[in-house]
Amino acid sequence: MTVQGVPEWIGISGAGALGAVVGSFLNVVIHRLPLGQSLVHPPSHCPRCGARVRPHHNLPVIGWLLLGGRCRDCREPISPRYPLVEALTAVLAAGWWARAESALAFGVYFVFLAGLVAVTFIDLDHKIIPDSLSLGGVVLGMAASFLLPLGWKDSLVGAAAGGGILAAVAYGYEAVTGREGMGFGDVKLLAAIGAFLGWQAVLFTVFVSSVTGSVVGLAAIAMGGRDLRFEVPFGPFLALGAVVYLFFGPELVRWYFGLLP
Ligand SMILES: [Zn+2]
Repeated sequence: MTVQGVPEWIGISGAGALGAVVGSFLNVVIHRLPLGQSLVHPPSHCPRCGARVRPHHNLPVIGWLLLGGRCRDCREPISPRYPLVEALTAVLAAGWWARAESALAFGVYFVFLAGLVAVTFIDLDHKIIPDSLSLGGVVLGMAASFLLPLGWKDSLVGAAAGGGILAAVAYGYEAVTGREGMGFGDVKLLAAIGAFLGWQAVLFTVFVSSVTGSVVGLAAIAMGGRDLRFEVPFGPFLALGAVVYLFFGPELVRWYFGLLP
């Protein structure tokens, strides 16, 4: 995105810094939201010795590097996932700044991306997708669509398609096998993706997430030698599909149809 009077590299760097700071907050969300804890109190502290994190060590990524990945007081290792989430959010924000067509689109879809990062790691940890993120995303996506080129009709159809397709698959699977194969958290997440991006994104996301999910699932079974059907959470793959669509979807769809005679 080019903003008048602002060189693009400054915009991209600023977005990256914003992403790192938001990523730092997402670590708190990922850690506390599934446990029902407050996101603001108490301030960040070491889970072992309770020492408060000093302000300069709270700097995204850099703080962790300064500390050598350990608590300053008790030397308890701090998971490298903290700086990873911060770096990932920074990269997504910087990349999205470069792709976004307006400041509004940047803001709305940056919130969307941040939500997907939180969903991914919460689902990996707990195999759940909190309703506050998925259903909250449906509401936010539909509200934002009134202001975006997407429009409220495409958003509504997208949310219905997302919820409907996966709900049908989930009910069908359960009816046939008598087991729950797909969580309804995934259904609600796909509805949120549809609300933000429209129904084409829903089809695209289902395609990308099924392919990548199957590849990873089969690789896990091959390596672990056990049945992981119910152990691989699907949320991260849905999030991946949505991110790919947000960044490259229109080009990929055009390229795909260009291959047809
Ligand atoms: Zn400590």
